[in-house]
Amino acid sequence: MNCVFCKIVDGEIPSYKVYEDDNVYAFLDINPLTKGHTVVIPKNHSETLMDLEDDQVNNLFLAIKRISQHLEKVLEPAGLNIGINMRKYAGQVVDHLHVHILPRFEGDNGGSIHSIVNNPPKETLEEILDKVEM
Ligand code: AMP
Ligand code: ZN
Repeated sequence: MNCVFCKIVDGEIPSYKVYEDDNVYAFLDINPLTKGHTVVIPKNHSETLMDLEDDQVNNLFLAIKRISQHLEKVLEPAGLNIGINMRKYAGQVVDHLHVHILPRFEGDNGGSIHSIVNNPPKETLEEILDKVEM
């Protein structure tokens, strides 16, 4: 498969490795938005979180927790954002699921998850819940 992140896992493309276990690989983003900007991926190719096997979801998010704890300890940021761009419209450029960890520092001019989109629905919350309740 011609996937840049699979190639990073296989060592065909070099990376600044932050963390690795049997199922998960994490490396510094090559175009960091902030100090410590880390990309965490499942080793098995999967395009989105919805495609990932349940046990791999557990492994991925446990690793994200560990890495976030570590980044907080060593970089002492003022906060952290964790995010996933899924599918092209939402900004996914690499079609291998990856989770961005973004340490936040005072005065970094960043926003919150609320700055990603501004498209409030016309429907009421009751109407929307009719469709989305599981
Ligand atoms: P996304 O827009 O969520 O698909 O983000 C993909 C991210 O992968 C971007 O932030 C890129 O800078 C990063 N990226 C792409 N290629 C590499 C690479 N070879 N090593 C490290 N990071 C990469
Ligand atoms: Zn891949």
